[in-house]
Amino acid sequence: MIRRVLRSFTNIQKGDDGQEYSYTQVPMDQHHPHYTPHQDYYWSTKDELSPHPLEIRTDVDWESTLNHWHRKFWAADILKMVWMMGMHSFETEVTINYPAEKGPLSPLFRGEHGLRRYPTGEERCIACKLCEAACPPRAIKIEAEPRPDNARKTIRYDIDMTKCIYCGYCQEACPVDAIVLSSNFEFSTLAHSDMLYTKTKLIDNGDRWEAQLARNLEWITKRQ
Ligand code: SF4
Ligand code: SF4
Repeated sequence: MIRRVLRSFTNIQKGDDGQEYSYTQVPMDQHHPHYTPHQDYYWSTKDELSPHPLEIRTDVDWESTLNHWHRKFWAADILKMVWMMGMHSFETEVTINYPAEKGPLSPLFRGEHGLRRYPTGEERCIACKLCEAACPPRAIKIEAEPRPDNARKTIRYDIDMTKCIYCGYCQEACPVDAIVLSSNFEFSTLAHSDMLYTKTKLIDNGDRWEAQLARNLEWITKRQ
């Protein structure tokens, strides 16, 4: 019985011929009579491995013995995984099925730009160019001309969105809340030309997101 237990700890097995065998990792001698090609071990008799009797052996390969027992208990990892899956399946789901589902965004989120207008349809922008001056990467280009009604309005308002770093300085600099960064982040494109926003595009964005922009600006004003 004791010999059988020791065998299980030391990878020693009894062969069909009644001899005790053990497999060993080293040395891999290609001239050994039991050498097996394409394998890194061969079966050796007990006498070949050690001159000592089994009961007082000192050459136990603890590394292979530990690996042996680790393999025996691999099922414990599977059971642990099943247990953890069961526990987590009762937790609140945190993933969302984007783009069918979308998570909430802060009113401070800085996304695609838009130029706002008053409810009457008049442009808010007064061509003061503060946003152009505040823009760190010089992404904004503004041109203005005198108009017959003496109003200061832009004739050109371009933003190179490939230069923009979404710092929001343009929005902060604007005295009339004309240029704003919306909550829209889904405007990626494959063409560089599509990222060169003109005044028409910006006003169109402003009209599209106006309700949300007004809500966000109101929240920001109350917070200050
Ligand atoms: S968000 Fe910043 S980088 Fe982008 S246009 Fe405005 S000021 Fe320029
Ligand atoms: S968007 Fe605002 S800061 Fe920029 S030019 Fe117009 S009014 Fe001035």
